[in-house]
Formats: sequence, C-alpha cells, structure tokens
Amino acid sequence: MAGSKKAAKKKATDKAAKKSGKKVETKKSAAKPGVKSAQKVESKAAKTSKTAKPEKAAKPSKTAKPPKLKATKPTLAPALTAEETAAALAPVPTTTLAATEWVTQPAQALAPTPGLRLAELDPEATPGWEGTREEAEARTLALGEEMSQLQERLFAEGRTGGTRSVLLVLQGLDTSGKGGIVRHVLGMVDPQGVSLRSFGVPTEEERSHHYLWRIRNSLPAAGRIGVFDRSHYEDVLVVKVEQLADEEEIERRYEEINAFEAELIEAGTTIVKVALVISPDEQYERLRERLVRPDKHWKFSLGDLHTRERWPAYAQAYETVFERTSTEAAPWHVVPANRKWFSRLAVSELLVQALRDLDLGWPVADFDVAAALEALDASASLSLD
Ligand code: AMP
Ligand code: MG
Repeated sequence: MAGSKKAAKKKATDKAAKKSGKKVETKKSAAKPGVKSAQKVESKAAKTSKTAKPEKAAKPSKTAKPPKLKATKPTLAPALTAEETAAALAPVPTTTLAATEWVTQPAQALAPTPGLRLAELDPEATPGWEGTREEAEARTLALGEEMSQLQERLFAEGRTGGTRSVLLVLQGLDTSGKGGIVRHVLGMVDPQGVSLRSFGVPTEEERSHHYLWRIRNSLPAAGRIGVFDRSHYEDVLVVKVEQLADEEEIERRYEEINAFEAELIEAGTTIVKVALVISPDEQYERLRERLVRPDKHWKFSLGDLHTRERWPAYAQAYETVFERTSTEAAPWHVVPANRKWFSRLAVSELLVQALRDLDLGWPVADFDVAAALEALDASASLSLD
C-alpha cells in the first residue's frame, strides 16, 4: 500500500516537473553530488551525439574527441571553530540512560567467587542488573554506539603505529550463545575492526604443534578487537574431560596459560574472558530446537549429545579453570546465559569498559596539516582535461 502510494506520488511529481521543464533527480543521485555531475556530463554527451551532423556522427569513434570533463566547484569544508575542534577531539561520551539498572558494576557482579560451584549458580539470574529486559536491550544498543566509536579510535591508533588490541575470549558449552554474542554484540561495530576466530577439534597440522601454536597464529592485529569463539581453554576443558592429554600435562597448562596471557597483556592486548553458563534444561530446549527445525540442523552435531552427558565433568573442569586462571590482569567473568538479553548486555558492558580503560584519543597527524591543506586548496580548481 505504502509503496504504491509512493510510486503514485513520484509519478505526479515527474509529471509536474515535465510540465515546468525541470529535470527530476532521483534521491540517490541527489545525495551524491559527484555522481550527479557525472550523470549530467553523460546526458549532455548523449544529447550532443544525437544532434550532431550525420557526417560527423559517421566518423569512426577513434577520432571523436571525448567530452570535456570539468570538476564541479567543490564546497570547501570550513575551518573548525575552537569549540568544534574540542568536540571532535573530546572523549567518547559514556553511555548513560535515564534508567541505568546496574546496582553492582558488571565486572564485579560477574567475578567468580573463590570456590564457586557451577551447580550452585543460577543461569536464569542477572547478577548486578535490576532492570527489565526492554531496558537491557535499549542499553545494549546504546553501548553498541559507544563501542563503535571507541573501536574506530582503536582502529585509527592501530593504523598509525599503535600496538594495542582487545581480545574477547568466549567459552561455554554448546548452545550457550557464543555465536549470538558475536552476531549481536560484535555485530554492532565496523567489521573491518573485528577479527574472529573459532576453534574446533584441532586439525592434523594443529595437532603436530604445541596447543598454543594455533592460538598465537590467531591473535588480533594492533587496533583490532579479536574474538575467540572457544580458545586455548579447550585445551584444559574438553582435553581434560575426554582425557586427551595426561593429567600432569594438563596440570602444567594452567600456569602456562597464565604466563601466555601475561605476555599478551605486556605486548598491549587487553583480555576479556567470558564463560557463558546455561542450565541443562535450557540446553535441552535449545538442542531440541536445533533438531526439530530443519533450518537449524546445521547447528547440531552428534558430538553435542556426548558432551551433554558429561555435564558434571565439564562443570568441574570449568571450576578449575576459574580457580587457576582467573588472574588480576586477565580475570574471568562468569555470565549466566539462560536469558540471552542479559548475556549480550553483560558482554557489551565488559567490552565497552575494556575499551574505555584504554583512554583512546585520535592519532595526531605526523605531517604538516596546514601545509597539506594549503597544497590541497592550491589544486581546488583542478580540471580533468
Ligand atoms: P563448535 O564450537 O560447536 O563448532 O564445536 C567445536 C568442537 O571442537 C567442540 O566440541 C570443542 O570441544 C572441540 N574442540 C575445540 N578445541 C578443541 C581441542 N583443543 N581439542 C579437542 N577438541 C576441541
Ligand atoms: Mg556446536
């Protein structure tokens, strides 16, 4: 309905314009001055050839003079006032909504308590958050905007010699929502600033190397937000539960992982570690959906049932991970994930806080801006003929 109304309206406008002899511009061309002028030149050229004398038109096109292209006079960007300059360089405003319902800061509310037993954790809970689902969703969106602005600054820093990066490590059993975090949280920022890696069963080549080899090869470049969908922690989780390495070796790995992470932090990477925790009942429902819906079969693997049956062993392996690898420099965040809106809000908060803590500005130009501006202005009337 709305579409046909719009079409009718456009038809009427076209008609009126025809009558008055005015050229009707489409919205698209009007929005792009460069395109508009090129189109105009093109239509002018078409007109010329139409009205050209027959003998001229018959000449081989090789000798025909190409139409002269003239650049349209540019609209000069005015110099910024002192206030505008200050605004452009100001820090990204911190997200605040009228109703901000974190009663305890997320990093604190989600920290694993010493001796945490996963069986005692309520995956339906929303620790630290007392708002509604709608408020959480609105805040997540607002955080997305802040994240996006901060990420652009981090990216700019990386492009101008900076070495810092952020790495989000996502762990959680099948269906805990790791993929949803990638889509809904990281999906709010420019994809060119994100580097995503998923870690599955090691390939033959990966198996021939140290377990950290594939991890080192996947670290985010400077200026990026890296995301690990599963990580080196699988090497003390599934590997422990399935006894894919001997106990001594696994025991050695916790310290090795801590040292590895300390090394990354030293080199400029902020690590945000998140474990998404769902309940067995919730996983049953999510796996069931994957089986009853033909469009979800691709997400299911028979191995998921095998893993599910080892729930208590995984819970224990996770508890050990929290106990042994939650360091001051790279603490774990245990996020109840039965409510997807909460886990997405929580991860957004943690990621945005990590970016805020970098105190990001805009890189200072390493060239003479005034001289470059002068040189550009000298070429303002550049003609293409
Ligand atoms: P998904 O993330 O659903 O694609 O599944 C990946 C599978 O690879 C999970 O079952 C993981 O436990 C498994 N996996 C990941 N890393 C390792 C590892 N280092 N050793 C063995 N299995 C792994
Ligand atoms: Mg899976």
